[in-house]
Amino acid sequence: MKNYFIYTRREDPQDAVVASHKLMIRAGLIEKLGSGLYNILPLGLKVINKIEQVVREEMNAIGSLEFQLPVLVPAELWKKSGRWSIMGKEMFRLKDRHNNDLVLGPTHEETFTELIKGFIKSYKDLPLTVYQIHTKFRDEIRPRFGVIRSREFIMKDAYSFHIDWQSLDETYQLMRKAYRKIFARVGLETIPVEADTGAMGGSDSEEFMVPSHIGEEILLLNDDLSYKSNREKTPVIYPELQDNEDLLNFREEEINHLKQNIKEIYTPDVKTIEDLAKFLKKDVKDLLKTILYKAILQEEEKLIMILIRGDRQINEAKLKNYLKAIDVFPASEEDFYKIGSIPGFASPYNINTDNLILLYDLSTATRKKWITGANKKDYHIENFHPVIIDKNWKEKLIDLAFAQEGDPSPNGKGKLKESKGIEVGHIFKLGDKYTKSMEFTVLDKNQKRIYPLMGCYGIGINRTMATIIEQNHDEKGIIWPISVAPFEIVLIDITKTEEEKNKVESIYQKLKEQFDILWDDRDVRPGVKFNDAELIGFPIRLTIGKNYFEKQEIEIVIRKTNQNLFVKEEDLIQTLIKIRNELYELLPKIES
Ligand code: ATP
Ligand code: MG
Repeated sequence: MKNYFIYTRREDPQDAVVASHKLMIRAGLIEKLGSGLYNILPLGLKVINKIEQVVREEMNAIGSLEFQLPVLVPAELWKKSGRWSIMGKEMFRLKDRHNNDLVLGPTHEETFTELIKGFIKSYKDLPLTVYQIHTKFRDEIRPRFGVIRSREFIMKDAYSFHIDWQSLDETYQLMRKAYRKIFARVGLETIPVEADTGAMGGSDSEEFMVPSHIGEEILLLNDDLSYKSNREKTPVIYPELQDNEDLLNFREEEINHLKQNIKEIYTPDVKTIEDLAKFLKKDVKDLLKTILYKAILQEEEKLIMILIRGDRQINEAKLKNYLKAIDVFPASEEDFYKIGSIPGFASPYNINTDNLILLYDLSTATRKKWITGANKKDYHIENFHPVIIDKNWKEKLIDLAFAQEGDPSPNGKGKLKESKGIEVGHIFKLGDKYTKSMEFTVLDKNQKRIYPLMGCYGIGINRTMATIIEQNHDEKGIIWPISVAPFEIVLIDITKTEEEKNKVESIYQKLKEQFDILWDDRDVRPGVKFNDAELIGFPIRLTIGKNYFEKQEIEIVIRKTNQNLFVKEEDLIQTLIKIRNELYELLPKIES
């Protein structure tokens, strides 16, 4: 250790709010360089290398082939696929000395598709699965939690190419199993959940989530875990609205009658749905919320007005998918005035909605009469129904809301519960999105040109490392799973003489042949050595001190269980092998 690079810290770094970030800095695994940028130090790199090795073994085991492609990618490829214009600010772009545009790859669908296209011409060469373990760049809006969301990180990204959906599905299932194995082998408990596939095609997609209170993803799971999905994707089931659809038809006289019965109510300074419910002593479910969004569409920008029941929130992923928009975001106050409305008192009533896209969330699929905004300061109206301003409202009913805890599970089994998760991996059936846009065809059995289908599969390596710590630590420090620990064993010597030190060294040399072991030979107090060993989190700690020199006993302490035992030198290796095996047994099991 004297010759190693380990500098631990007592104090948490100021900008760290989560355990893994604090511990990684304090234990000397990483060191901050700038916003979302981290130097990886030797101890941290040993962990990363071990994680990568597990990933590599499991990828190779399913026949995936390792490549390494440049991080720097000519913009032409991104223009070809169409993503140059839709990637937004998250993608790092730069120019070379000849003024050519380049991209620091945030992901590599384009580059791999272009490369494989140059070689593969026939169905006979498919399926093919390729991967790399390499650096990715993303200019995240909010880099945070250390390497959990950073701007430069290592990803294992794999891509598969197929002649038909059945073949794609076979590889997808193999990947799914490989992912479960990988995460279990590095000591992580994960839950695969159904994920949003975005606007641009793609069908099946699953994210591998690590349950955690710091997770940025919200998962919805039913009681028996037969339904598991990212909240972005979960459809909302409204049992109260499952009536006969005919009920939503209105006769002309009914509509006229409704129109005549609209009444204004004076609601001074009452702007939010919650305040309005309180003020009128109503349930929020009786109130109709009007939400204004701005959508960046392929050709133009558009204002989107959405009516949604008072108790529900807009799910931007669903909105974006429905509109096939590049981006959507809440409109400004000014946008309300532009359409003749007033924030806090908005609705589609009595304003010109011709230039808007008007949408009705499924929660409004009812004959019920609503309270909503009057587009007049300090006034709302009652007895409103969308049919009076839009006869075709029924056709514009779509699910745009977040499902929430307590909703019926979409698979019909029980109710949904919310939980939080960190996404460590993602698998995705892309279909022919990239092969089509990048004109990659092969000849099928009948000599017909077809676009191969693709899948893509990612794992964040640094995020995985941090997440392992989130799941495995205590107040003293990290508790590494044996498989990815920077060293399996730390050997602490408490010696007084040169002769004693030499004795410890001879034991160390012998152990080094069979174990990944670090010898803490520093001339510091024993307390410092013990604290550092616990902070860094080596799975097994050996102490050679007084007990050894007086009674020939070496102490073994297991970090995870805090168990300790004393062994004679001649039994040491056998005992360590046994303990190491037991620690491997403690890793999460892969369910079938
Ligand atoms: P997120 O929703 O967290 O931004 P993503 O959906 O953008 O993730 P993918 O594009 O699917 O992520 O990338 C594959 C994997 O790469 C993720 O599952 C995650 O483990 C990792 N990853 C993505 N962004 C980052 C980042 N900024 N820092 C570290 N790891 C990341
Ligand atoms: Mg992202």
